[in-house]
Amino acid sequence: MIDIFNTSIEYIKGVGPAKANIIRSDLQIYTFADLMTYYPFRYVDRRIINTVSEINDNSQEVQLKGFITALSTVGVGRSMRLEANFCDSTGSISLVWFKGIKWIKTKLKPKTEYIIYGKPSLFMGGFNITHPEIETVSEYNEAVKLRFHPVYHTTEKMKNCGLHSNGIAKIMGNLFDKASSDIVENIPKMILEKYKLISRKEALFKIHFPKNENDIKESRRRLKFEELFFLQLSIVASKYNKQEHTKGFIFNKIGPLFNTFYHNNIHFELTNAQKRVVKEINTDFKKGRQMNRLLQGDVGSGKTLVSLMSMIIAIENGFQAAMMAPTEILANQHYKTISKLLEGLPIKVEILTGTTKPKEKARIISALRSGEINLIIGTHILIEDYVEFQNIGLVVIDEQHRFGVAQRASMWKKNNPPPHILVMTATPIPRTLAMTVYGDLDYSVIDELPPGRKPIKTIYLPQSDRIKLIYFLKKQIAAGRQIYMVFPLIYESPKLELRDLMDGFERVSREFPMPEYQISIVHGQQKPEVQEYEMNRFINHETQILVATTVIEVGVDVPNATVMLIENAERFGLSQLHQLRGRVGRGGEQSYCILTTGDKVSNEGRSRLSTMLKSNDGFVIAESDLKLRGPGDINGTRQSGILDFKIADIAQDGAILQAAREEAFDLIEKDSTLQTEANRVARVFMQCQTYGKNIWSNIS
Ligand code: ADP
Ligand code: MG
Repeated sequence: MIDIFNTSIEYIKGVGPAKANIIRSDLQIYTFADLMTYYPFRYVDRRIINTVSEINDNSQEVQLKGFITALSTVGVGRSMRLEANFCDSTGSISLVWFKGIKWIKTKLKPKTEYIIYGKPSLFMGGFNITHPEIETVSEYNEAVKLRFHPVYHTTEKMKNCGLHSNGIAKIMGNLFDKASSDIVENIPKMILEKYKLISRKEALFKIHFPKNENDIKESRRRLKFEELFFLQLSIVASKYNKQEHTKGFIFNKIGPLFNTFYHNNIHFELTNAQKRVVKEINTDFKKGRQMNRLLQGDVGSGKTLVSLMSMIIAIENGFQAAMMAPTEILANQHYKTISKLLEGLPIKVEILTGTTKPKEKARIISALRSGEINLIIGTHILIEDYVEFQNIGLVVIDEQHRFGVAQRASMWKKNNPPPHILVMTATPIPRTLAMTVYGDLDYSVIDELPPGRKPIKTIYLPQSDRIKLIYFLKKQIAAGRQIYMVFPLIYESPKLELRDLMDGFERVSREFPMPEYQISIVHGQQKPEVQEYEMNRFINHETQILVATTVIEVGVDVPNATVMLIENAERFGLSQLHQLRGRVGRGGEQSYCILTTGDKVSNEGRSRLSTMLKSNDGFVIAESDLKLRGPGDINGTRQSGILDFKIADIAQDGAILQAAREEAFDLIEKDSTLQTEANRVARVFMQCQTYGKNIWSNIS
C-alpha cells in the first residue's frame, strides 16, 4: 500500500524543492504526515483589528488596517532596506523590509487599503514592524470568513522565502485539498465513542482551520488523546512482551532469616505503606517472571528498609543481592546502616567502591564469585564486567536517576535469567512522568512517612537577617544539635563552585570560631578518602557544622542534624532543594530548613522558593516542579525524545494520559498483537510509526 502521507512535502502546491529544503532543515518536517501534524501554537481572531494608537511596549502581534503613504529604499549594500509609512485613522507606523525588496515594491500600490499583521518593536524612539504580513482588504475579507487563523512557529529563514505563519497556513490548506480524503481513523471505534472523541480527519482539519472555540477544544482533546494513546500502547506492549518472555527466579521461601530480622532487628513498626510494598515485591518474586519495579517514596519514607527486606528474601532463597548507589558517600552510608541492621544475622555484607584498595578489591571479587558474600553494596563499579556473581538474584538501584540507561541494563547480564530489579527514586517524580518515562516498569509507592516525625519548618531569610541567623544556629549547637550548610553547585565550573564554597567556608569559620566550633567540609573536588573522613567526623559528632556542596544531597542520614541552611537557594532546582531538606527531620527534634538568596532572584527562582515554603510533601513539589519547568531531562529522556510531544503536555494532561494508559492496557490485555478487526486501525497506524523505538526503559 502506498501511503500518501509519506510523500515528500515538495509535492505540495506552493512548496517546491527550494522551500522544501528550508522546511526540512528548519523544522525537520519531511512528509505530508509531518506537516499535517505541525500544529498551530495559538490562533488569532482575525476579526479584531487593532489601531496604531494602541501599540505599546507590551504589544504582541497586531493587525492593522490602513494605507501606505510613503515608500522609499534607504541605505546601501547590506543595510539596504525598504521603508514604508503606514497610516490608519489614529496614527502612523513604519514598516521595514530587509529582504525581498524588489518583490514587495511591485506588490504595494498607493491608495489601496491593506491589512497588515506583525509584531511591533521599539526602534529609535518609535515603533516599527519588520517583515509584516500584508494583504489587500479583499484578500482579508476572504480570509476572515474563517474567524480563527492558525499561528505557526516559523524561522527567519522561512519568513524570507514567504513562509511566515500565514504562508504556512496557505500550504497547509493546499495539503488538505490534496490529501484530506485519505486521512483514516487510527483509534478503535469503541474508545472514540467512550470518550466522545471526534474523528481523526475532522480533528486534523479543525486544529488548523477552526471555525470556533469549540473546534479548537475538541480537536486538541482528540489529538492529545491520540498522541498519548499511541505512546502508551507501545510502552504497554513492550512491558507485556518483556513480562511474557523474560523468565525470572522464584523466591518462594520466607523463613527464619526473614522472620528473625523482622522480629528482632528492627525496633519500630513498619508503616502500612512499607508493608504493602514489601507484599507487592514478594508477589512478584513468586511469579517466575523477572521483576522490574520502580519504588517511589518521599525523602525519609523508609525505602532503604523495604529494599533490604527484599534483599533478605533473595538471600534466604539462596541468591546473592546487590545494592548500587550513585555516590561513594551514599554507598558508605548504606553499608554502615545495613551492616548495623543485619547484626547477628548470618548474612555477609561487603562494600565495593572506586576507592577499595586493590588487595581488598581482589578478595571481594573472588568472594562474590564463590558466593561467600551474600550482599554487596557498591557504586558504579558493580557494573564492571569483572564483577561476577555466583548467583545474583536481586539488584537494588538506589537514587536511580543518577544512573544511565546502559549502566542499569548491564546489571541484567549478571545472571541468566536476569536478576530481579528494584529501582528507587530519590524524590518523587509526578505520576504522569512515571507513567511515561518508567511506564513499562511496575510501580510501587510509599505514600506515608514513619510516625512521630515533626514536620520540618522551612524559613526564608534575607541576608540582612544574618546576625539573627547566626544567633539561632549557635543556640541549636548549644542544645547539642548539628547543622548542614550547603552552597550551590555550578555544573559548568567546578572551580567557581569551589570558590563559592571556600568563601562561604571562610566566613563560617569566622562566624563560628575554633575551638568552640568544629567544622567539616565536603565537596566534589576532594578525594573520596578525604570526603569520607570529613563525613565521618560529622556523623560521629566530632564536628557540629558540615559545610558542603550538593554531594550530600542524597541519602546522608544523621538524625542529630536539625538545621539545613541552603545558601543561594535560588540557584537550586526544586527537587534538589527538597532532597536537601530531607537530610534533616530524621530524629525526634524539631528541624529547620533555612533558605537564603542573593540579591537578584528570577521570577522562576522566586516561585521555587515559595513552593518550598508552602509544602513539605515531595509529591506536591514534584508536580509543581513539572508545571514550572516542564519535564526536564530525566535520565537522558530529552535525547530519547520520549517526552517530545507534538501537542500533549504532560504537566497539564494528566487525566487524558491516565485514560489513554488504561485503554492501552485494556487493549493489550485482550488482544496483545492487535489482531481483531476492531483494533486493526491502531495496528496499521502503529506499523507506520516510529513510536517506541526510543523507549529505553525497555532495557532497565
Ligand atoms: P529514604 O526513603 O529517603 O531512603 P530511609 O530509608 O533512609 O529513607 O529512611 C529514613 C529513616 O527512617 C531511617 O533512619 C530509617 O531507619 C527510618 N525508618 C524507616 N522506616 C521506619 C519506620 N517504619 N518507622 C520509623 N522509622 C523508620
Ligand atoms: Mg534513601
